[in-house]
Order: sequence, then C-alpha cells, then structure tokens
Amino acid sequence: MALIERLQNRPDATYWPGKIPMTYIYTAGRAGEAFFKKLRDSGKFIGARCEDCDLTYFPPRIFCECCFNRIEGNWVNVKNRGVVHTLTICHETYDDKPKETPSIVAFIRFEDTDGGMFHRLGDVDYEDCYIGMPVEAVLKPKTQRKGGILDIKHFRPL
Ligand SMILES: [Zn+2]
Repeated sequence: MALIERLQNRPDATYWPGKIPMTYIYTAGRAGEAFFKKLRDSGKFIGARCEDCDLTYFPPRIFCECCFNRIEGNWVNVKNRGVVHTLTICHETYDDKPKETPSIVAFIRFEDTDGGMFHRLGDVDYEDCYIGMPVEAVLKPKTQRKGGILDIKHFRPL
C-alpha cells in the first residue's frame, strides 16, 4: 500500500489485542527543574536571562529562543508578583461535571520578564477580577512543598 493510500477496510489493519506495560516519567526539563527546586526550597521564582537579546524568560529556559544562546544557569530572581493578562472562570471539571465552586484561571505576566504562567486565582470573587489586576503568589508552607506547580496554591489580588 502506498503512503498516500488510506486503509478503507478496518479488518485489514494488523493488530494485536492485549495490554502493553508502559512506564513513563514526566520531567519539567532542566530549566523547569531549577525553577521548581528554587520554588520548593526558597519560595522564590527564577527566570533565565539572555543579555544578547535583552530578554528574561519566565518560566526559565535553557536556550534563548531568539539567538539560541545557552542561557542555562543565567538565572535571575523574579518577583512573585504579576499582573492578570487574561482570565476565565471554570464551571465544570475535566470530566464535564459541574463544580461546586467555580474556579478562576488566569494567565499572569511578571514584571521585568518576557513571559508568564497560567494558574488559579484565589481569595477573590470572579466579579471582582479584571485584566491588569495586580496579584501575588500564595505558596504552600515550606514543609508541604514538593517541587511542583501546586507549591503555588493560587494568586491573590494585591
Ligand atoms: Zn538571545
């Protein structure tokens, strides 16, 4: 069968019924790992700086996406405060069930960086949220942080 031909009769497909044991591990990459370790251990955010392009990547990267310079290790501190760039309210769970309490998800941009992140907004009603609203991260206590995005409980208005 040529590559451009499509299978017209499903039983013609070769298959093996059964289960394939698979294991996998998700990694955040080297820059993501540095970000989450810093967050877990000190409660601070970091970005990655490319001086040639005058860009601060947040979350950090290991290469500059403009000039391809290696910027791994060029970490810079980023304030745990940002501004809501856009937001939405979620009334349903991932499996289409209504939520008891709707959640607010926002893309937040951070001062002195060229990036941002999605996260939940908390300690605020949806009606009181707006684009441009200054927010700060609310972190879990250090003893409960595991080195993941949920070490940030949510962002709340300043
Ligand atoms: Zn660059």
